[in-house]
Amino acid sequence: MGDQQQTLKQTLSIQGEALHTGKMVTMTLIPQPEDTGVRFCRSDLPGKPVLPAQPEHVVDTYRCTTLGNNDWRIRTIEHLMAALHGLGVDNLLVEVEGEELPMGDGSAWYFARAILETGLEAQAKPRRTRKVTAPVWVENGNSPRSYLLALPGEQLHISYFFTSNNNNVGNQFYQLSVTPETFQKELASARTIAFTYEIEALRRQGLAQGGNFDVAVVVGEEGYLSDLRYPDEIARHKILDMLGDLYLLGPVTGKIIGIGSGHKMDLELVLRLRENLR
Ligand SMILES: [Zn+2]
Repeated sequence: MGDQQQTLKQTLSIQGEALHTGKMVTMTLIPQPEDTGVRFCRSDLPGKPVLPAQPEHVVDTYRCTTLGNNDWRIRTIEHLMAALHGLGVDNLLVEVEGEELPMGDGSAWYFARAILETGLEAQAKPRRTRKVTAPVWVENGNSPRSYLLALPGEQLHISYFFTSNNNNVGNQFYQLSVTPETFQKELASARTIAFTYEIEALRRQGLAQGGNFDVAVVVGEEGYLSDLRYPDEIARHKILDMLGDLYLLGPVTGKIIGIGSGHKMDLELVLRLRENLR
């Protein structure tokens, strides 16, 4: 990743179906000046309210990361955030005409490809990367136990151990040092896991109204119902989610190790890290 801050060369619009609401939504990525960070805007609401993509503005971590306040929210920001972190987009206004981002292909590839086609513009000021300087961790003692650790490191290196009782899926481990190149090749196209019994439950709750077998790694009792993009696609997607959630702090370096963790623990770690990085 270069040393200068970056934004997009020009405004980019992306339209698509939202995973949970099933509605068509337009998202517009607008270049911004240095030191403004990533901000999200509900452009369909009066006054076009804006919030910075920072951990104190996360209002929900059930199934996805949701930014907002008492009046409005934007769901499923994590895959776009992963693309911005992975490709090194520092300053951007994300206008969304609705309460959820388009899902693209269920990974970050749809966003990453559009951003790369539009092109990145280097800005005059240097990037301010935050470093993990001391070990920080969070854990969940409930069964199955899960852990998420951050250790000092000069690069951003993320490992994830996915555990499952499902014989067809089993346990998966993946790790990588994140650079724009490894992000595009190894991470960006990994999709999330969805068990068929979960999909039914989500739909009863009014979630997962969009989506199909191509935008997730769907697993039924008999095993995988989707063609896999990587044999360890689920572990890779978990790393993708972590990359996106970590970007609530801006660019970060350190060794991050997740064992069975998810968005809720990602946010807990980010809040702890922010205290230490301050
Ligand atoms: Zn995800």
